[in-house]
Amino acid sequence: MNENRGKVYLVGAGPGDPELLTLKAQRIISEADVILYDRLVNKEILKGARDDVELVYVGKESDHHVCTQDEINDLLVKYGNEGKYVARLKGGDPYLFGRGGEEGEYLIKNGVKVGVVPGITSAISVPGHAGIPVTHRDHTSIFVAVTGHEEPGKSENIEWEKLATFKSTIVVLMGVANLGKIAAKLIEGGKDPDTPVALIERGTTDDERVTKGVLKDIDEVAKREGVKPPAITVIGGVVGLSDILKST
Ligand code: SAH
Repeated sequence: MNENRGKVYLVGAGPGDPELLTLKAQRIISEADVILYDRLVNKEILKGARDDVELVYVGKESDHHVCTQDEINDLLVKYGNEGKYVARLKGGDPYLFGRGGEEGEYLIKNGVKVGVVPGITSAISVPGHAGIPVTHRDHTSIFVAVTGHEEPGKSENIEWEKLATFKSTIVVLMGVANLGKIAAKLIEGGKDPDTPVALIERGTTDDERVTKGVLKDIDEVAKREGVKPPAITVIGGVVGLSDILKST
């Protein structure tokens, strides 16, 4: 384990079901001196850690931050410099909207070794578990994963109207708060208002809930049903397949 001294692994913890962890992630969790984990990481997974592990919660809630990103970066560098074997656990895959790229860059810039353990991303597995394949020959050969929550003040805005012109399944992460705006922009861009939409909360867990509608009414349906983040939004004809493909 000596080669892991002073090394930080950016580890994908999968979408929620603890069995959807990779073998490599499981091994690193069982060996690490320190584990820093996010809100979306299923706590069951931490049971596989060493008895003397140092567990550090660095979750960010949407309304208040337990830890800012700068604080997380500095903590990671601190543990790395102390020669610790560190697992930085992130929901899904560390490099899809998880700021894993930024953390890796910061670590390397500060002379800390970095390893990456890809994880099963919620963008594909959450729809899949709910019976929605993101591509299907009868529907589409393209799918895009897009964030519904951009940082305020960021200059590069997502061009939803252009996205609407693609014959694509659109998977929106962090999209619940802006659902109404997103749906309106897609319709403005020419997307059929009757395009099926599914909202999946707590995907792949025993508490999974799927709420369905169409583009023109999904915001209203979501409000009525009390859909809360974190949830995955799937927009496209493939949503209709869930009636057949839902695991039995
Ligand atoms: N890196 C992660 C995504 C981080 S962004 C990945 O690859 O999965 C966080 C967003 O992921 C949430 O707001 C939500 O949109 C989505 N998400 C993650 N896990 C989820 C789950 N089990 N059910 C529904 N949505 C989930």
